[in-house]
Amino acid sequence: MRHLFHNLWIFDGTGAPRFQGEVLVEGDRIAAVARLGTDPALPRDGAILVDGGGDTLMPGLVEAHGHLTWPSSTERIIHHFELPPEEMMLAAARNARVVLDHGFTSVYSAGALGERVEVVLRDEIKGGHLPGPRLRASTIERSPPGADGVETGHVDHGRGPEAMRGFIDHCKGLGIDSVKLLLSGEDALLPGSSQQILYTDAEVQAACQRAREQGLWVNAHTQASDAVKMGLRHGVRVLYHCTYADDEAVDMAEAAKADIFMAPAIGIIVATLEAKPPPHIDMSSMKESAKPVIERATRLIPELKKRGVRVLPGGDYGFPFNPNGRNGRDLEHFVTLFGYSPAEALAAATGLGGQIMDMELGLVRAGYLADLLLVTGDPTQDVRLLQDKNNLAAIMLGGRFHKQPAALRAVAA
Ligand SMILES: [Zn+2]
Repeated sequence: MRHLFHNLWIFDGTGAPRFQGEVLVEGDRIAAVARLGTDPALPRDGAILVDGGGDTLMPGLVEAHGHLTWPSSTERIIHHFELPPEEMMLAAARNARVVLDHGFTSVYSAGALGERVEVVLRDEIKGGHLPGPRLRASTIERSPPGADGVETGHVDHGRGPEAMRGFIDHCKGLGIDSVKLLLSGEDALLPGSSQQILYTDAEVQAACQRAREQGLWVNAHTQASDAVKMGLRHGVRVLYHCTYADDEAVDMAEAAKADIFMAPAIGIIVATLEAKPPPHIDMSSMKESAKPVIERATRLIPELKKRGVRVLPGGDYGFPFNPNGRNGRDLEHFVTLFGYSPAEALAAATGLGGQIMDMELGLVRAGYLADLLLVTGDPTQDVRLLQDKNNLAAIMLGGRFHKQPAALRAVAA
């Protein structure tokens, strides 16, 4: 199968300005990209022509802090967090389709509510049996037994380095891609706990060492500066939140920038501050905890960006006040809160997204996977266009249309 996209602008995922051109897709990959006025037109024989109508073709978006098992989506708000496994599985499958409908062709998981749920979901999607994004699967987020703060997992695998190694081996057996550890608590759930370090240095060292041996990545919830530094010392790959990172932590992040990613998960913070919960739900302490996060993040993230640290959008979507499907809002926050240009925010969600997925995707470039969006208008001027799925004229995942464009025309060979 060959598709030839023409009559459009191309945003290639690097952050460079759009250009007019054509893109040829063969099988699941981009075969060629041609720049109008510079390169010769691409061969049309045997291809299905996709007339872009002057729209923008860009790489599919990558969610860097995904929670497909957090139950709520824009299509269905669910006011329980932990569902029985059957309901949870179906909600996750629905959420996978919802985020893909909104242009997210890849999701890097930041933790699940069931042990194997994301493994099963990832493989069903990969096999073409369910609609959804490419998924780097995780499992239940691990906090040490008895630790307060984050109630997202009830894994009881004991304490100490040997227990951590056992947990990693267990994860390997599940078939996941990455492990999520809670190195600090979380003020939004237990006021004051963001400054608590939940693991010992020896435990984190043992976990990261074993994960390297087993070919797994380690991701971490880190709020306190010492939690960020602990993660950086031992080789955590993706550091989430990092709200209280001090100057030394920023220096350490810069030194490790070739190997790490950061995602502040700002979407959940903005949504917390905006939320207008019904009277029986008290979000007052969550709202209190969110205020200093915004203040700090608006200073920290521009500094990390300046130092060349890879910071990605991805905002803890899946709660009733911050549902899956609204993920595109994070790009707007990068522009309005962190001073990114629209093209830089797009590049963080696409080009850098391919790097966090560790797959050949996120760029419109020959040889890359054909995960593509045809966007009505110019998202490099206004990233808010990506918040309305009606602006996505086409969504292609691995050379197949999840959403087929209106203007398709087959050309005979
Ligand atoms: Zn999260």
